[in-house]
This record gives sequence, structure tokens and C-alpha cells, in this order.
Amino acid sequence: MNIHEYQGKELFEQYGIPVPRGKVAYTNWQAEDLTRKLGGAAVLKVQIHAGNRGASGGVKLVSSAKEAKEVAEHMFNTPIVTAQTAGQAKEVRKILVEELMKIVKEFYLSIIIDRDAQKVAVVASSEGGVNIEEVAEHHPEKIVIEHVEPSVGILDFQARKLAFALGLVGDHVGQFSSILRNLYRLFVEKDCSQVEINPLIINGDGKLVALDAKINFDENAQMRHPDVQELRDFAEEDQREVEASRYNLSYIALDGSIGCMVNGAGLAMATMDMIQHYGGAPANFLDVGGGANTEKVSHAFRIILRDDKVRSILINIFGGIMKCDIIAQGVIEAVREMDLKIPVIVRLEGTNVEEGMKLIRESELNLTVASGLEEAARMAVEAAGKGGAA
Ligand code: GDP
Ligand code: MN
Repeated sequence: MNIHEYQGKELFEQYGIPVPRGKVAYTNWQAEDLTRKLGGAAVLKVQIHAGNRGASGGVKLVSSAKEAKEVAEHMFNTPIVTAQTAGQAKEVRKILVEELMKIVKEFYLSIIIDRDAQKVAVVASSEGGVNIEEVAEHHPEKIVIEHVEPSVGILDFQARKLAFALGLVGDHVGQFSSILRNLYRLFVEKDCSQVEINPLIINGDGKLVALDAKINFDENAQMRHPDVQELRDFAEEDQREVEASRYNLSYIALDGSIGCMVNGAGLAMATMDMIQHYGGAPANFLDVGGGANTEKVSHAFRIILRDDKVRSILINIFGGIMKCDIIAQGVIEAVREMDLKIPVIVRLEGTNVEEGMKLIRESELNLTVASGLEEAARMAVEAAGKGGAA
């Protein structure tokens, strides 16, 4: 789960990590007003769940309140594409208005989980404010990594070692150690999967300040953090995934043309593999879970159909806890409810499968019964192709 930069900076403040003074503007008048309050010079930063804004016009320095209003107006009216928005233009609803800082030097600092090492890793670089992947590619020697044993935490010598590797001296070493320790505490206490400060700067007053904030949370631990849950911005997430989570469906949008409705994550993956095997591409991963009733099935249909790339739907259900005839009824009712125009291939297996298949055959709906997963996948790929594969 992602949050916005301004929310990340609020968390930084709570953890004693220095950030520039700033507030969020929802209108260009607010941006103007906030800039005036900051003394006329400010930085305007669009708040979207994607980085690389600086290179795409999403971060602008202004030198008067009037200019802030004009820049904000343009930002609010221009959906932004950055190297991290996957080709999508993102609407701007909020702009962070911050005091302008003089940058003496920019660094990179992040904390991630290194699964191979089974440790937490601190990544730092003297090359801040630029894309870290590029630094890794062209100047790998400029990236330093320090592994932290989770049961021990960051030790003083490790913080100093990193500070020296960044070329910090004097008072900056202590400032850096304090920021790193606080960042690590935030990382652990809030169950983050990543925290990143890029750039961490030395400002005109010789202070180390976090000029940017990126935080990702481990979703599996979020039941422990209702406060973090409140930071979720649904407008930034895939709307189909948001709707799916509301109905307890696990849905992930993909690029293909075959909608999948499956119960069980393992079966869903096997189904997607089989579709690929027959030359097709799944439009989504969708696990309707164990108790797939009519309501869930119809919500699942609706979510699949909101993707206009979908040319056919493959339903693959194993009736274990749920009986096949009950599931078949659910599918039939859901299809009756909506005016379905694309072919649906159904494969059922398990308890009461004969009764279930019979119901589907006799339904006189546009449903095709397949007798096994291979046949079902082949039929779905064929049907998608006929409809003009996406
Ligand atoms: P990102 O491009 O989405 O990662 O956005 P950042 O928050 O990292 O901002 C991009 C760049 O804008 C930074 O690397 C800085 O060079 C610049 N920038 C941001 N805030 C300030 C500021 O207060 N003063 C100056 N001089 N530059 C800033
Ligand atoms: Mn940045």
C-alpha cells in the first residue's frame, strides 16, 4: 500500500525526521495563499502515487504567490504522466506547497527488506535526487548497502559507516545517524516494506532534511495499523481492485483479453498458465474465494466486464466446500441479471458436478460447458480470438 509524499512527511515529523514546512492545497487559491504565508517563494509538488515528478513538470519552484496560483492552476488542469505512472495520465487533486530550500548537496537513503539475506537493508548513495536504478547501472560503486539484523536493529557503527561512505563529516554525521535511526524505527513500527528519501539534502543552513518521502506498507500487517489504513487514497488505486476488495474478492488487473473467475489462488494461477499455454492472455487474476455465492459471482462479473479488453470469460470452479450446483445457480442468476454479450466458458469440477453442468446446459444462456481445464482454456482462447483479440 502506498501513501502520498505529504502523508509520508507527516509520519517523518512524528518520528523526528526533519522535513520542510509545507501544507496541502486543494485549489489554486489555496496554493496562492500558502505561498504568500511562506513569504512568496515556494515549491509546488503534485501529490500522486508515483515518483519521477520532477522530470515531468510535477515539481515547480515559484517566486511569488501570483506565480504559485498560475502554476497550481496548470497542475490541477493537466493530468500528469511520469516514468512511474505506467503510461497513464494521473489527475492531480492535491498539491504540496513547501518552503523553498537551498540545496547544497543531495543524497539517497532508503530501507528495504532483502529477502535473500533475510535481513533489512539500508541503501544509501552520494548521488541523490536522481533515479537510483540509473545510479545502480552506471555507478554501482556509488551505492552502499548495510544489512541490519532485525533482532538487533541498527548499530551506531553502522550509521557512522554509512555517513562516512556518503562523505559526511562533523555535525552531519550525528544528524544522519539520528535520521537513519528514526527512519528505521518508523520502518519497523509501521510494518513498512520500503521507506525512501530521495533526495535527502544538506540545506542552506547546513541541516540534513528529507526533501521527498516515499513509504510502502506491507499489506499483510495492516490490520495492526488502523491509523495507516486511514491514509489510503482510493482515488489513486485501480478502481476495479478497490471494488473487488470491498466484496472480499482478490482481483488484480492484467493486460490480456480473457476474463478469469476462479476459486482459490492456486487454481487461479493454474488457469492463467493454461490460458497462456494455449496462446491467450488473461485479463485478470480473480479469486472469488471459498464461499462463492450468487452475489459474489455477480460482483465478480461486473468487475471483469468493466475492463473493455475482455473478449471472453473463463469460469473455473472447484466445488469443494461449495457444491457445483449451487455455484452453477449463482453463475446462471448473475448472467441473467446482466445482459452479457461475450462468450462465457464454464468448467466445474467437484461435488455435485453433474447437477451443476445440467443446470448450465439447460439454462439456455450464452454459457458453454467445458469438460476439463485444458478444453476450457482452449475454448476461451478461441472465443477471445474470434471476438478480435485485444
Ligand atoms: P520526484 O521527482 O517525484 O522524486 O520528486 P522530488 O520530491 O524528489 O523532487 C524532485 C526534485 O525537485 C528534487 O530532486 C530537487 O532537485 C527539486 N526540489 C524539490 N524541492 C526543492 C526545494 O525546496 N528547493 C530546490 N532548490 N529544489 C527542490
Ligand atoms: Mn524524489
